[in-house]
Amino acid sequence: MNVAARVGSGRGAAIEILSIKKYYGNFAALEDVSMRIEAGEFMTFLGPSGSGKTTTLNLIAGFTDLTAGDIRVGDRSVGGLPAYKRNIGVVFQHYALFPHMTVFKNVAYPLKLRGIRKAERERLVKHVLEMVQLENFAHRYPGELSGGQQQRVALARAVVFDPPLLLMDEPLGALDKKLREWLQLEIKRIHRELGSTFVYVTHDQEEALVLSDRIAVFNRGRIEQVGTGHELYTEPETLFVGRFIGESSVLKGPHETRAGETAIEVAGVKVAARGLPKGVGPQTILVRPEKITVTKPGAEAPGQVNRLRGRVTESLYLGADTKYEVRLPDGTVILSRMPVSERPFAIGDEVEVFWSIDDSKLLADDGSAESA
Ligand code: ATP
Repeated sequence: MNVAARVGSGRGAAIEILSIKKYYGNFAALEDVSMRIEAGEFMTFLGPSGSGKTTTLNLIAGFTDLTAGDIRVGDRSVGGLPAYKRNIGVVFQHYALFPHMTVFKNVAYPLKLRGIRKAERERLVKHVLEMVQLENFAHRYPGELSGGQQQRVALARAVVFDPPLLLMDEPLGALDKKLREWLQLEIKRIHRELGSTFVYVTHDQEEALVLSDRIAVFNRGRIEQVGTGHELYTEPETLFVGRFIGESSVLKGPHETRAGETAIEVAGVKVAARGLPKGVGPQTILVRPEKITVTKPGAEAPGQVNRLRGRVTESLYLGADTKYEVRLPDGTVILSRMPVSERPFAIGDEVEVFWSIDDSKLLADDGSAESA
């Protein structure tokens, strides 16, 4: 392959993950995971600690062996292929730079391994150092760089040979918030510039939303749902996904169904959602905070709404919005976000909350609200 010709060529590899399993002894770290990642896509693996994100990434990279299933990168199976033959770029949380080599030599290393000639190496290294805005740091040693600069060198080294696929495992995990937010934008820009496929691991849902074309939500060795941030936020398929992405109120209680609606009894009051129960077990209703209005008791509400009475336990001014926490008599907490008004409610105020039935999301109770 002519590496030089491919730099910036914008060709990514599609990845097909086919019923993969990974066992450590009897322990199933991954149970039957399947998905397709499109060529050039920015895919993020999101989930709590121990849910199988890193294991999946390591299986794609070839750092761990599959117990069952297959992985295809581009149009070939990489199942039996050692990591160094997969032509994949990787970046980890802890900058694995060579401390005794300059930035230039660190970045040139993958090109040297691939037998690229000196003049071409110099051109390519210069190009990627410009891309990560470190062209003036080529002669420094890693020990003379900040954490964020070291991660940018690691990124440059991972992309210098223009791999069709770049894997990143919590690359910003060790950095402070401000630097992380800035580097998120840099990573997005580099993804656009290269056009290769990026697979990114994080447990930070905000980071996932900022970066990704699509997000795969992992839980206990399985994928719960794959979708855009918007799809996961507005149409979660499980309570786990609904609670993991963004904020929500979760209502529980005995349920009954009539005329295509399901009602749940919360604090002695029935609240409804469109549709039939999901499965045979207990049901929940999930509502996003921006859909919930807090009013004085008895105030008028438009359309077909659910109403509950409670007391304000928190009132937070957030600039454009006010965030309220309202506690119901049974202890259920309702979150609301509303545009700032001239007369905000105060802690202790008796209020009513209401929301449209169409904004109730009916989901099976998978127990995830208790385990938080
Ligand atoms: P984190 O965000 O904490 O990195 P993760 O979602 O990336 O979590 P994995 O590292 O993929 O999780 O781990 C999945 C499960 O497999 C965990 O329960 C972990 O303890 C287990 N596991 C990982 N590596 C090994 C190993 N070498 N031997 C035994 N169990 C392992």
